[in-house]
Amino acid sequence: MNVVKAKCRKCGREAPVDQFKLHYAFKMMVCPDCFSGKTQKQEEAKKVENQKPAGWDQEDEYLNKFHQSKQREAVQVRKISGTELYECTCKKCAYKFKYDPYKQIPKSCPFCDETVPNIRTSSFF
Ligand SMILES: [Zn+2]
Ligand SMILES: [Zn+2]
Repeated sequence: MNVVKAKCRKCGREAPVDQFKLHYAFKMMVCPDCFSGKTQKQEEAKKVENQKPAGWDQEDEYLNKFHQSKQREAVQVRKISGTELYECTCKKCAYKFKYDPYKQIPKSCPFCDETVPNIRTSSFF
């Protein structure tokens, strides 16, 4: 006996045709796995895994955002532990200074006057 199989339009896997059911939310015929929500759960689990490596915390999140945009940033920042301040290193002159994200000062490098980007615009704060 040959089982006729069809490709599920939701997950792309093949399943016996007679097991396909109409899913109320997708409004299409889906395989048993999709119908039971199994494939969706797997996808979600995958997404969560891909998003964040273990040990990821808010500070990493902030630094990651900063890294992503650092090409256009003039300074390097590093949170000074135990304070709300950041240690900034000016990329132009390598001068190190403290940055207060709440008062947003200094607005420019005290040494060479290179503009300090508004670090607080990050959603981290
Ligand atoms: Zn499916
Ligand atoms: Zn500078």
